[in-house]
Amino acid sequence: MTNATQGGRSTTRQADFSLVIDGKLVAGSSSFGVINPATERIAGVAPAADEAQLNSAVTAASLAAGSSWATDEDARREAMIAAADALEAESPRIAEILTDEQGKPLADAVREIATAGLWLRHFARLDDTPEVIQDDTAGYAEVRRSPLGVVAAITPWNFPIALAMWKIAPALRTGNTLVLKPSPYTPLATLAVGEVFARHLPAGVLNVVTGPDPLGAQLTAHKAVRKISFTGSTATGKRVAAAAAADLKRVTLELGGNDPAIILDDADPQAIAEDLFWGAFRNNGQVCLAVKRAYVHESIYREVVDLLSDIAKSITVGAGREPDSQLGPLNNRPQYERVKDLTTHALDRGAARATAGGKPISGVGYFFEPTILEGVTDEDEVVAEEQFGPVLPVLSFRGEQEAIARANSTDYGLTASVWSQDPERARAIGDQLDCGQVSINQHGSAVRPDLPFGGHKSSGLGVENGRWGLAEYTQLQAVVGPSRQ
Ligand code: NAD
Repeated sequence: MTNATQGGRSTTRQADFSLVIDGKLVAGSSSFGVINPATERIAGVAPAADEAQLNSAVTAASLAAGSSWATDEDARREAMIAAADALEAESPRIAEILTDEQGKPLADAVREIATAGLWLRHFARLDDTPEVIQDDTAGYAEVRRSPLGVVAAITPWNFPIALAMWKIAPALRTGNTLVLKPSPYTPLATLAVGEVFARHLPAGVLNVVTGPDPLGAQLTAHKAVRKISFTGSTATGKRVAAAAAADLKRVTLELGGNDPAIILDDADPQAIAEDLFWGAFRNNGQVCLAVKRAYVHESIYREVVDLLSDIAKSITVGAGREPDSQLGPLNNRPQYERVKDLTTHALDRGAARATAGGKPISGVGYFFEPTILEGVTDEDEVVAEEQFGPVLPVLSFRGEQEAIARANSTDYGLTASVWSQDPERARAIGDQLDCGQVSINQHGSAVRPDLPFGGHKSSGLGVENGRWGLAEYTQLQAVVGPSRQ
């Protein structure tokens, strides 16, 4: 039972969790230790699926996709509500597992599980009735949606449960079945959710497989998979799209972001500082749609930087299990090293200065001080690339068109925000930003089950959530016939 992996550590311990295949809990062919980023010790041991087990999971999902699950809408709604009830009942236990493997404060983990329940309930209620196009004496025509079949759902390590539910809820609602593969950095809470759901869903409807990559690539290459719903980095997303092309699998890609916030000259620094700070630092900046670059009008630049720095200095960073912790550690060593390197490179340049933070917190765990950087340029890597950590570069601008051009000058296009005391003025600027979501005087708080979420340019393909996201788990069928009148 040993396996040294990305996201894991060699261990001879039996796995603490099981794969979920065809409604049964199955031991992995090997196992790997998942690191607690606060202690750098093993948080739990996960099962690693081999290719035969992956094939079993896909076969189980295929058989379930051909069963009454695909046609019995009422049964699906009932199963989803039962799963939501069970998830909420198990929330305290699963939230602790999530905190131990991901690092986030326990209160945030509890909120993440609650969000997952909310998503299930929302989608269970959504209507998906056929659209009647013609119903007259000359004939009848309607457009209906049918499920795609087996969905491969692949998730990252920042919000393992919430982002899994963005896929599970619409896929179940529309009569598909899934093979879910979480990140090797955070497989444990997902396995726990799979185990809970196995009690409420028909066998084979939701299978969970874990293990080091190339498990993800093996799943996306599987011929029986009809759709891939992927959340992760842009680099991996491109590989997923290439794999999907071989069999023309449908694909939804939720990828990286380098999201700008534009703070106009008429914004009130005191009033916005707190919301702007948390727009960047929630989940320790490990949020695809976090503010990753702030462009502040030169007339209020100093005041905004000072206010953000004061908040950064007041934040308690600590282990997620500590009740006072507002921010936990970064999730994994490569990400911690990346944030450290990007910050050091900017500071080494000389012109840049950290007005708060700027370095790792020494000792055990991947802790990093919440950092506000000034004196950086658009060319610095920490501005030009997605840092995905607790570091916010703050840049100044003079003219609105300049701010818009700089905000748009990236291959990414996930979200953006504009801050002003005049919402109409902010809105007019938002209309010129090339991204999937624009927020006015807020950032990242509009992630809702009823709104589409997706990126422009290299931030993704397709959308999740809302009726638009639901439609991506279906294929259209036009039905025409003689008049029914
Ligand atoms: P990642 O791309 O490294 O991994 C994501 C998932 O893909 C993991 O489960 C991984 O095991 C799997 N994977 C790796 N190689 C694969 C392959 N060839 N084929 C199939 N699957 C493969 O991303 P990460 O480091 O886990 O997550 C951070 C990234 O995710 C950031 O860029 C962030 O912006 C992005 N993200 C985007 C959204 C969104 O909704 N747009 C949400 C959260 C995170």
